[in-house]
Amino acid sequence: MISQRISTLFKGILEKETLSTGYLFYGHSKEALDSTARFIGTWINCLSPQDGPCFQCQSCSLIQSQSSTGFFFIKTETEKMSIDTIRDIYSTVQYGAAEKDKHLVVIVSDCHKLTTEAANAFLKLLEEPPHGVIFILTTQNLLSVLPTIRSRCQILDIPAETVIPQNEDYALSGIIHMDIIQKLETAAALALQKDELKQLILNWLYTCNDLLRSTSQHDVYIKLADACLDALSSLRYNVNVRLLCESLLLSIHTISFDQKHLFQPASETQKIAV
Ligand SMILES: [Zn+2]
Repeated sequence: MISQRISTLFKGILEKETLSTGYLFYGHSKEALDSTARFIGTWINCLSPQDGPCFQCQSCSLIQSQSSTGFFFIKTETEKMSIDTIRDIYSTVQYGAAEKDKHLVVIVSDCHKLTTEAANAFLKLLEEPPHGVIFILTTQNLLSVLPTIRSRCQILDIPAETVIPQNEDYALSGIIHMDIIQKLETAAALALQKDELKQLILNWLYTCNDLLRSTSQHDVYIKLADACLDALSSLRYNVNVRLLCESLLLSIHTISFDQKHLFQPASETQKIAV
């Protein structure tokens, strides 16, 4: 079973026919990432979809028997994925989906294994995908994926088993509206929750990523996302967590100063709801 949040999200996307051409699934469990990607890829192609794929129609049956021409699962057992893999993907998808209203789903598991050369070649495919092609990338190591690839995809965190609860007290919209003293007090409080901090900053990153696509104020959200990525990257080392939190919240303060009208709490509430 996939998480309720992801299932609800894709049900809406499929009903409204608003599929993106690139998704990047991030999470701690490789098993959950791959099974969620397979589930979503099957659902996208299903001929009688409801709250998921029916697993009975011709499309679902072909995918299950690994003989579908609309579903490809690319993985490697080695440490690196070379440009040859991208050439294979290109030759498979270059003419797009077989029929006008059909999709061709390509899942690239462990996409952080792409070499720089391969990732750059793949970027061209992501930028101008052939008709009907949907890419679903998965990784356990989000920060090792090229920023240019990340920015072309809708990034979704995939929980291992249960949904990690969102702490609404620390939603990014709320943080932005705090004055500087409240921000510093919040930084001190966050520093005491190191285990949850990474997930919280990731949530902010996803919020920026969502808003980046839905508003014209791209530069502010890009700067906020960069500050979050910097903090996440520093968290991998043995840093002073309190200083890191203060530095991140001060960056957010500087970036969003005089920009308070930009933030749309409604969008964030919607995101939390899914
Ligand atoms: Zn089906």
